[in-house]
Amino acid sequence: MSPRLKAPRGTFDVLPEAAAGYARLEQAARGLFERAGYGLIETPVFEETELFERGVGDSTDIVRKEMFTFEDQGGRSLTLRPEGTAPICRAYVEHGMHKLAQPVKLWYLGPFFRHERPQAGRYREFHQVGAEAIGTDSPLADAETIMLLSGLLTELEVPGVTLRLGSLGSLGARREYLEELRAYLREHESELSRDVAERIDANPLRAFDADDEGTRAVMASAPQLLDRLEGEDAEHFAAVRELLDGAGIGYELDGSLVRGLDYYTRTIFEFHCDRLGAQSQVGGGGRYDGLVEELGGPPTAAVGWAAGIERILLAIDAPPPEPATDVFIALADGAEPARAMALLNELRSAGRSAELDLGGRGLKGQLKQADRLGARHTLIVEPGGTAQLRDMESGEQREIEPGRVLEEL
Ligand code: ATP
Ligand code: MG
Repeated sequence: MSPRLKAPRGTFDVLPEAAAGYARLEQAARGLFERAGYGLIETPVFEETELFERGVGDSTDIVRKEMFTFEDQGGRSLTLRPEGTAPICRAYVEHGMHKLAQPVKLWYLGPFFRHERPQAGRYREFHQVGAEAIGTDSPLADAETIMLLSGLLTELEVPGVTLRLGSLGSLGARREYLEELRAYLREHESELSRDVAERIDANPLRAFDADDEGTRAVMASAPQLLDRLEGEDAEHFAAVRELLDGAGIGYELDGSLVRGLDYYTRTIFEFHCDRLGAQSQVGGGGRYDGLVEELGGPPTAAVGWAAGIERILLAIDAPPPEPATDVFIALADGAEPARAMALLNELRSAGRSAELDLGGRGLKGQLKQADRLGARHTLIVEPGGTAQLRDMESGEQREIEPGRVLEEL
């Protein structure tokens, strides 16, 4: 025997039972976004590597360690998309969407790729659903996008959810704080992990996100940007909080909150679920007022989020699908298969779910199969064109006129 092949490390097959959970989530998201006036956007699964280097940031974990990058036959460097915001902003600029009425409200759902150590809730290919409102700096947009993710998690009955909220201020205002943070980190350099120490210059905020004990201890008393917000940044954040309060959306202020991408400005947030252990973040996002310009577009304020579909499904322990089959059509010995096919067609055209045995089973085996499928009724087609309708729950069976199957059901 040849050696067996397996799905690559960190990837998985979505088998039919699990696919039902994905479908339910997608349906909930679609309904929610349609009601909110968000249009669906699909971007390629791979992009030029430079898009993520510029859009996500050279000093982020994603760009430094997590990208699946390859060269195509033409020698171009391409990368499987690790996130959705940079590609959408690329599309916004490429298609001149700044000329449309602003903001442009978009949602997406699809596979993303990060080269991480696989564990529960952390994969190398995973799925995200996300939303972006591009072309507005109004706090209303921050609050609305947060409300959408909160609404999705509520509709899907994700238990134990908390919202953490912070603000990074605008890029200019942040500069002074970053110097203060760098000075603090340098003072404690020997207690920091190597990874964090190496990035004091390039990405000091990332120290808040470290999981080694030494760095965490240092960061517990680090200066926080939230205490230093001033002027319009402070007003903007206060307005977002007031809107969330008004909408009845609870949150915890978190001055140590930072996000994995360089492009965030002002509002940032994460939704966590207490049932998920170490990988507790079900979704997160924030405002990214500099990104569109960074990618060659006009100065454009924007806000959005992404949520991990596998983590949501893990959190709700996605329930098994409803029995799908209304009617199982069984063939008694000597019955006409063509007659059964015609009935199958008639039932499906009328919107009923119907299945036929394709496994060459005897009548007893077919009834067993109908049971396994959770069929509500079995229609036993007999030789000569008569039929018996069997209620699978009560076991009751009666002869029906073959032309009246739909009425009898
Ligand atoms: P984490 O801190 O867990 O690595 P992140 O900050 O890298 O999360 P984001 O970039 O904000 O995550 O992505 C949005 C969401 O996508 C996350 O909240 C999470 O639910 C999901 N997600 C991120 N990386 C993975 C992964 N490798 N496998 C499964 N889901 C993921
Ligand atoms: Mg990550």
